[in-house]
Amino acid sequence: MPCKLCIERGKPWKGDDPRCAFENGTFSPDNWNCATMIALREISREIGTNYRDDNAVASIGTVPFEGGDYSGYIVMTWYKDRGRTSNAFIAWDSEPIRELTEADAILAIEYNRQEWY
Ligand SMILES: [Zn+2]
Repeated sequence: MPCKLCIERGKPWKGDDPRCAFENGTFSPDNWNCATMIALREISREIGTNYRDDNAVASIGTVPFEGGDYSGYIVMTWYKDRGRTSNAFIAWDSEPIRELTEADAILAIEYNRQEWY
């Protein structure tokens, strides 16, 4: 089942269908134009925590967030403005990296959107 944001957005374009990154609740690199991943990439641009190099290492973006018991960064890589997000995981200072879940992605989006207002 697609993520909440993919369902809310639908497919407002002609052409290929989106492939949600969170069909199983955990990030999959087999994705294209997943609304949650696009939102996270936009946030990393808005807050200036991304770096783009089309000729070499492609793009990286991070989104910081805080939860009740933890805080960390969502780390993502992608190429140009293409719809596929190749990698995404969570890096915390005090723990090993771990998989990105839809629940943590939503938490990070809400955390950063709150700060804008
Ligand atoms: Zn999605």
